[in-house]
Parts: sequence; structure tokens; C-alpha cells
Amino acid sequence: MIKYNLICRCGKTFESWFSSSNEYDQLRKKHLINCIYCNSKSVKKSIMAPNLSSKSNKIPKKSKLEKKAMKQLVDFRKYVEKNFKNVGDNFTKEARSIHYDKKTSKGIYGKATPEETDELIEEGIEVATIPWIDKSEN
Ligand SMILES: [Zn+2]
Repeated sequence: MIKYNLICRCGKTFESWFSSSNEYDQLRKKHLINCIYCNSKSVKKSIMAPNLSSKSNKIPKKSKLEKKAMKQLVDFRKYVEKNFKNVGDNFTKEARSIHYDKKTSKGIYGKATPEETDELIEEGIEVATIPWIDKSEN
């Protein structure tokens, strides 16, 4: 069954059910579709039908490649969150303490400014900067 929003030349719109789009075409050809308000046969499918308007999407779609790259970054983020300890703003401090005290083997992640990152690298501390993707952007 297909539901169409129909519009009459009198300006009224109403909904009607058909077994198929073909049935609608046949009935319309034979002038068997009447307006429920004025009984006119000048009835046609309304472009206001919600199932049609919802298809117009103004947001440009991301390319397949972009989507794939985004997904990989999101997956990577999930992996990091699962396997590493979030130290947030203490990243620089924690990274140093791990490097100099060798107290933990668990990886950490957190925030650091580019300057802080440079300092850590100069000190011989391994750090990697990764693009941090918002999980809602997929
Ligand atoms: Zn009418």
C-alpha cells in the first residue's frame, strides 16, 4: 500500500491509499479519483507529501573516502580510549613521570600544547599527535 497526499484544484489536500503507484496512475487516467471535498476530478499528487520532501537533503554528503578516513580516526580514538589512560591536561607531567620514573607501562593520552609536545620530544620522550575526532561526526 502506498499513501499519497493528493491536492485538488479547489486547493484542498487529502490523503489516499493505493495498492501501488500503478493503481494510482490507472485510477487517475480513468478519472476515478475524486476530491473528497468538492468531488472534482482535477486531483493530482501533492508535492507536499512528507515522504518526498524528506529526501531533499541540503547538507552536502561526505565522500566515501572521507567517511572511511573519519571512521578510521574514530576507531583509533576508541582504541586509544580503551587501552590508554586519560590524563587530560596533566599529559606533559604524566609523560615525564613515566619517562623518568619508568613507573607504569600503560600508555597515556591527554592534552598538550604544540610547545609542550616539542619539549617532550626534545627530552627524548615519545609522543604522537593524533587528530582527535569527535565521535558524533560520522
Ligand atoms: Zn476539491
